[in-house]
Amino acid sequence: MTLRQQTMSSAIRAAAGRQHRSAACWTRRGVMSDSPVPGDPKEAVMDVPDKNQDTPSAIVQARQQAEERLQVSEARCRLLAENASDVIWTMSLDGQITYVSPSVERLRGFTPEEAMRQPLEDILTPPSVAITLDYLSRMAALLQSGRSPERTRNELEYRCKDGSTIWCDVHVLPVFAANGTPVELLGMSRDITALKRAESEAKRSAEFIRKMLQDLPVAIAVASLESDQRILYRNSAFDRLFGWTPQEIPTHEEWFERAYPDEDYRRAVLDRWTAALAQAAAQQGQVTPHEFRVTSRDGQVKDIVIGGTILDDRLICSFVDVSVRKRVEAELVQARDAAETANRALSKANAELQRLAVTDHLTGVWNRSYFEDALAAQIARAVRDGVPVSLLLLDLDCFKAINDTHGHLVGDRILIELPRVIGRHLREVDVLARWGGEEFVILMPHRGAREAMHAAETLRALVAARTFPEVGTVTVSVGVAEYRPHESDDAWIKQADDALYAAKTGGRNRVCLADRDMG
Ligand code: GH3
Ligand code: MG
Ligand code: MG
Repeated sequence: MTLRQQTMSSAIRAAAGRQHRSAACWTRRGVMSDSPVPGDPKEAVMDVPDKNQDTPSAIVQARQQAEERLQVSEARCRLLAENASDVIWTMSLDGQITYVSPSVERLRGFTPEEAMRQPLEDILTPPSVAITLDYLSRMAALLQSGRSPERTRNELEYRCKDGSTIWCDVHVLPVFAANGTPVELLGMSRDITALKRAESEAKRSAEFIRKMLQDLPVAIAVASLESDQRILYRNSAFDRLFGWTPQEIPTHEEWFERAYPDEDYRRAVLDRWTAALAQAAAQQGQVTPHEFRVTSRDGQVKDIVIGGTILDDRLICSFVDVSVRKRVEAELVQARDAAETANRALSKANAELQRLAVTDHLTGVWNRSYFEDALAAQIARAVRDGVPVSLLLLDLDCFKAINDTHGHLVGDRILIELPRVIGRHLREVDVLARWGGEEFVILMPHRGAREAMHAAETLRALVAARTFPEVGTVTVSVGVAEYRPHESDDAWIKQADDALYAAKTGGRNRVCLADRDMG
């Protein structure tokens, strides 16, 4: 056994042989499970000799037994120290290392001999040196005041031979001599570098996530799903959006009360949200986003889409303000409705304008402009298809006299009524228009001179048979002309006009065919 090991053993022996609270504590921790503890019957045998055996030989025997047990205990202690994966060490009260177990080489790269020669500054990094010196000075103060030093536990950073450092969880126990005086310190250093690295990595990534969430433009809050329902985290976007302080909404319950002040609405929100959370289990924890009207601290009501994810016992919620989008959407819908209404009115006005553009305003039949277009189209068709088309020019007889006798308004009523009388007996394809004054014109597609004459005669007879209020009967004269290929429209109209003239001069209330169509 080396000198240092002997020192350690003697310290342990000293600790083992006394009834001291700290030593008892140490033994209770199992570092030396065979060491006696207060109340241990073995200790009673050793320290309180039986009066009946209080003879010199009995004392010698008891001492021998005790020494044997001590040797066993020492051997076990040595074995433990030499084979422990933790570094076991002892230190004098003035800070000198007096023993280091072989495992120091595995941990720090220094042999026990090298390690023992190192001053504290070479063993530990400066902050850890400071912690150790602080402990030593506290211990010195305790000793000076006659009190026992305490056991301690620290995380210290050790220097390694290759220049790196490792972190150890270090337990330090004072070791007492038989008379109760502390003689040295017993330490156990366990390598927790990997644990510390994992801890700091976890801390770093937690910090990274926290920072990322903090700076996100979307409002985020994390709530506990445990019974306390605490709101564990809210990012700055959340604070900006709603304005509630953490004290105002510490839990789900307070959030619901403040965000949905109307009780009926709150109940409806709770129902929908509870159902969404229940459904999330079947959706890999994804809570279907729902839109709610949330009241913020300043009383503003905002349209918020709330979605979430359930992670273990936590609910991570996102809050997206769609108020502006909804307002713009509503305005757009309004604008679209207004535009549609305006469009409809415009189309109607356009249709009316178009109708007016081609309609005679007094009688409601086509006007001359429309008729001229229809005439051109029928000429083109007649030329193209070789089909007949005829023209009737119809003039009220002695209309000036009617006006003069019954007044202009009565004359107007006849002008309005006349197209109605004859219109009922025209075909869909026939085009009736006001030519001007008291004259009307009728275009009859697919009708040759004979058929047109027949139709004209029917119309004439209809008018003549009709009784007009205030006036009685009125008559019309009609000129008829069939279109001749390559004839101009003016020439064709002239033919009809001449025929009309013939009807007039022939005595009125009659139908005449253009000369060239006769025979
Ligand atoms: P004729 O048998 O030869 O055709 O004799 P007439 O009197 O019908 O013909 P004239 O050309 O001498 O007179 C036509 C009259 O039609 C004159 C005019 O006051 C009347 N007239 C023309 N346009 C309108 C109108 O819009 N309303 C009314 N009330 N009368 C009209
Ligand atoms: Mg006339
Ligand atoms: Mg006339």
